[in-house]
Amino acid sequence: MTSDPDSAPGLPAGPVLPSSHAVPRSGAVPRPPGGHRSAAGPDPEPDRRPGAGLDRASDRVPAFDQDADADRLSRARASLRGLAVGDALGSQFFVPAHYPALQSGELPPGPWAWTDDTEMACSVLAVLAAHGRIDQDALAWSFAEHHDFDRGYGPAVNRMLRLIRQEGGDWRELAAGLFNGQGSWGNGAAMRIAPLGAWYAGDPERAAHQAEISAHTTHRHQEAVAGARAVAAATALVAGPAGPGTPDALLGAVLDLVPRSAVHAGIRRARDMLDYDDVATVAAVLGCGRHTSAQDTVPFALWAAVRHLDDYEQAFWTTARAGGDVDTNCAIVGGVVAARPGGEPPTAWTRRTEPLPQWAGVS
Ligand SMILES: [Mg+2]
Repeated sequence: MTSDPDSAPGLPAGPVLPSSHAVPRSGAVPRPPGGHRSAAGPDPEPDRRPGAGLDRASDRVPAFDQDADADRLSRARASLRGLAVGDALGSQFFVPAHYPALQSGELPPGPWAWTDDTEMACSVLAVLAAHGRIDQDALAWSFAEHHDFDRGYGPAVNRMLRLIRQEGGDWRELAAGLFNGQGSWGNGAAMRIAPLGAWYAGDPERAAHQAEISAHTTHRHQEAVAGARAVAAATALVAGPAGPGTPDALLGAVLDLVPRSAVHAGIRRARDMLDYDDVATVAAVLGCGRHTSAQDTVPFALWAAVRHLDDYEQAFWTTARAGGDVDTNCAIVGGVVAARPGGEPPTAWTRRTEPLPQWAGVS
């Protein structure tokens, strides 16, 4: 339900119910006010695009002039739409009156407002479109610039993004200082990253690397980083020209790109449970985001996604009925499944979902 860095070590967070959703702020493709490039974090890849790094107005405009970029953008947009529908519909099931609809498979009345998962994913895509890779300063600033307090963010990230936007806070210091210097292991770095995996379709190594870079802007704990790497790699494989392969092989390829961690152990366990049909049992073993941590969210989300890659609708209901952090679980699953041709959500679902903000360049 939230990017909740408040579920950091020893501090499991309770659910944060989505509140009334304000109209998202508009703005140009994000640029940081100053730039805090330092040695912290993994080395970003050099931006090799013509004119990259120039501080000029045209640098803020997404470049659509190359076929490769257009393909990347198209795939990433499809993933983002799937992520947003999963997030928006999933969040509807925190409303007690909608519980019966969850079991019967009925759709709650629209419009369905999306939450922090989608808002942050829009920033990921906007930065990729503008820079051709993850620029950490631009991404952190976009998160801060577009941060809407009413989208269900956890308290720690609310505070961090407010400090960046209003007081010129350095995201490196703020992210590294969370939870007594351990950094957040919340699922927020994973919840927003499927469109990046789609952008790097067929190149899961690069997707995982860029996901790690993106994670560091808010989530410094190794579990959060591992979760982001896993979701990005899975999406890149699903969207790639070779196709996803079998669920078992797909999760195996993801595991090759995830460092030893609780997330890695959880994905191994998820792979061992691919033939289980009882989602409640799987959720009980893997977790389903009740602690809003990467390690109790990503393994289950990938389990649900890879079992239903040909059917967005079934993937959604399977995921949602497990409970837990429903909007984030469904955002991850929706972003992975929709990255594949034919994996888009039903049109009726998309129509009920709140339009994406204009600044994301997706509408
Ligand atoms: Mg959310």
